[in-house]
Amino acid sequence: MTSSNLSAFETEVHNFIDEHLTPDLNKAASLGFGISRADGERWHKAVYNQGWIAPDWPVEHGGTGWSLRQKQIFSNATALAGAPMIMPFGLDMVGPVIYTFGTDEQKTTHLPKILDGSVWWCQGYSEPGSGSDLASLKTAAVRDGDDYVVNGQKIWTTNAHKADWIFALVRTDTKAKPQSGISFLLIDMKTPGVEVKPIVSIDGMHHLNQVFFSDVRVPVSNRVGDENMGWTYAKFLLANERAGIANVAHSERLVSALMEISQAEQDGFGGALADNKAFMAEVANIEVQLQALKALEARVVAAVEQTGNPGDEASMLKIVGSQVQQTLEALRVEAVANYSLPFDTDLIRGESNLPAPGPDYAVSAVSDMNFGRASSIYGGSNEIQRNVIAKAVLGL
Ligand SMILES: Cc1cc2nc3c(=O)[nH]c(=O)nc-3n(C[C@H](O)[C@H](O)[C@H](O)COP(=O)(O)OP(=O)(O)OC[C@H]3O[C@@H](n4cnc5c(N)ncnc54)[C@H](O)[C@@H]3O)c2cc1C
Repeated sequence: MTSSNLSAFETEVHNFIDEHLTPDLNKAASLGFGISRADGERWHKAVYNQGWIAPDWPVEHGGTGWSLRQKQIFSNATALAGAPMIMPFGLDMVGPVIYTFGTDEQKTTHLPKILDGSVWWCQGYSEPGSGSDLASLKTAAVRDGDDYVVNGQKIWTTNAHKADWIFALVRTDTKAKPQSGISFLLIDMKTPGVEVKPIVSIDGMHHLNQVFFSDVRVPVSNRVGDENMGWTYAKFLLANERAGIANVAHSERLVSALMEISQAEQDGFGGALADNKAFMAEVANIEVQLQALKALEARVVAAVEQTGNPGDEASMLKIVGSQVQQTLEALRVEAVANYSLPFDTDLIRGESNLPAPGPDYAVSAVSDMNFGRASSIYGGSNEIQRNVIAKAVLGL
């Protein structure tokens, strides 16, 4: 695409954002994973109707066919404008597994509803005692005629309480090596025997859940790929998940927010925070890391375009991306200082009639920083990513 075409595309993206990103959606976006389904669907639908919902999917399955540069323009513009996050569980996780390994029936049933956002998914991988050591998972699926009967428990299941379907790793062979006895099932959350219980996390919000399965009957036709080959599909999905966690555009938004906050806040020595050399040096340092991260992200996106898989470099992206984001969130708390002390979850959720004690940008500073700690844990902890790099990239 020529540079004039690119700038026309950029204008088109900005016009779309101006038209569809209403102030209430902007506000709802600050809840991240905690956004209501109605608000999340409104933004998803607008992007879908524009034909832009799946930049990373192949064109034949509904992808946009954009170049790498176009993808960056879109993701940066929406993130900088503060658009709601598009939930990753359908589009970035199970969707690619279904179009790569699923049956024609699974593709026809699920892909259109992932694309239009009418069906929400959640991820049933982790179990108590099986997080980093995921292959030790115990949730059992026993064949009974044309069904599997599923019993067991998942934990830390983000948005299970809002989801229609869960993609779950289950054990179908207890005698094989751990990795060899796992299958990948698509389970309707309304099936009798599926029960969801909430977990409130350190940010004061409810995104997380436990999901229990008691004699849940799942048609064998809901298994993706071959029986006992689920580990292969699970790893493919995890690489996509890790690449997404780097969330570079989100960190760029945090930097620009920090710039505005540093103009508005005092440094405690009679000047603006923006004039405080020590603080601004910290911001500059993290901006440099962010630029390096953008370059790495471009490499990973190029790998996806060529091979369909982000590969093991996704682990590097995940480590650095989560660290940059955590540092930026800590700097925001430092910048808003005492305004960060009230921790009012009603205010954070926009459900309080009382005014915020400080500026709006301080309301969720501590909550966001606390939840941000999770990005070095979910998707496989950063320690596990270092193990992946040591083995798969460095050959140690
Ligand atoms: C906010 C949040 C959302 C999540 N959402 C989901 C979801 O939607 N679906 C889902 O399935 N899961 C989800 N998870 C679970 C997540 O994937 C696990 O928490 C993660 O894989 C770590 O597993 P664990 O919690 O069992 O910790 P453990 O595996 O018990 O690890 C504990 C500590 O030991 C370290 N450790 C463990 N093994 C090694 C090793 N071999 N080498 C070095 N260090 C090691 C870890 O790095 C960690 O610091 C979520 C987690 C969080 C925090």
